[in-house]
Amino acid sequence: MSERERLYRFLEGRDPMQLDEDGNYYIRHVEAMTGEGLYDKSDIAAELGWRDREIDRAEQREAELVQSLKAAKCPQCDGSGAVQVGPDDICQCQWCHERDAILAKYKCDGTASG
Ligand SMILES: [Zn+2]
Repeated sequence: MSERERLYRFLEGRDPMQLDEDGNYYIRHVEAMTGEGLYDKSDIAAELGWRDREIDRAEQREAELVQSLKAAKCPQCDGSGAVQVGPDDICQCQWCHERDAILAKYKCDGTASG
């Protein structure tokens, strides 16, 4: 086993072939680095650092959006998720249902703080 193979085994999930099968994530960077003339560690580290900062900022924005969604008051019901549409008729609140679906997608429940 080559040094490179040991490295990729160690860094599970970073196999270039798999990254390209999942959406050309590897070759896209190789081509971009070539096009931008990134050949030494310092240039590549600066690019990776910039990307890490952008990812951190995007994650922060996502967390803020989730908090805003959790705090938003339902315009359709009292927040219980039920809407009285007649004397004996209660329906599921569409707004609450869709909010809960979004929070579930981001693995948050409507009541958790984080
Ligand atoms: Zn509602």
